[in-house]
Amino acid sequence: IGKKYLYFEEIDSTNIQAKRENYEDGAVIFAESQTAGKGRKNRKWISHKGLGLYFTIVLKPEIEVNYLSHFSLLFNYSVFKVLRNYVNGKIKIKWPNDIYLNGKKIAGFLIESSIENNSISKLIVGVGINVNQSIKDFEEDIKEVATSLKIEEGKTFSRKEIFLDILQQIEKDYLKFIKENYLDIKKIEENLLWLNQDVMILEDGKPILSGKLIGLNEDGSLMLRTDEDLRFVYVGDLSIRNK
Ligand code: ATP
Repeated sequence: IGKKYLYFEEIDSTNIQAKRENYEDGAVIFAESQTAGKGRKNRKWISHKGLGLYFTIVLKPEIEVNYLSHFSLLFNYSVFKVLRNYVNGKIKIKWPNDIYLNGKKIAGFLIESSIENNSISKLIVGVGINVNQSIKDFEEDIKEVATSLKIEEGKTFSRKEIFLDILQQIEKDYLKFIKENYLDIKKIEENLLWLNQDVMILEDGKPILSGKLIGLNEDGSLMLRTDEDLRFVYVGDLSIRNK
């Protein structure tokens, strides 16, 4: 990973750039700022020039499409493990594609895929991490949900050091997963945001299910205990909130 490395001062979005060209397996696209950073479902990812980490990794795993749901947890957990070493605050994995620090969003992932003949031919792994933003950098509408390493930890971080650690960790975890098709779901579960709390699942902003978050299933789905029974929630375009 990173043998082919592209650096942009400014770009619309690193995921869009990854899709514009046919980059080789392991290519990394990094931008100091994005003018149209993307979240899921065309939501925006706000990118502050020079303050965060915004990059996309192109991977060509050529493995069965059934494993697709594991990838967002795999990359999420790799980044989580790195950030955990840099912070004293309470860091958690928010299923399926965010990382929270002290109850606010510090990192998000946007994973896009191409499937051919039942096999994953390409993964576009977009990562956005808030590193050195101050409170004033966040606009009113996301102040309540977003934070940065600097805000929570009270110091400035080396983006380069964190970035290199993350690439290394992702490479290690990805290669292991490709080889053994194994992901330590239990370890991810231990670090889940709102574990053992009452949550609700939203689809297009509307609640569709409430229950107690009791854990993660082997296939990466969430397990919720509702008043009636045990329910599994699969990655779609769903969001989780606590009540
Ligand atoms: P949720 O599940 O909480 O609804 P999501 O995972 O669906 O979130 P995404 O679509 O992945 O959210 O990310 C986009 C959202 O993240 C935006 O709607 C905004 O609320 C928030 N956001 C945008 N930029 C940032 C940022 N730099 N830091 C933290 N949060 C951000």
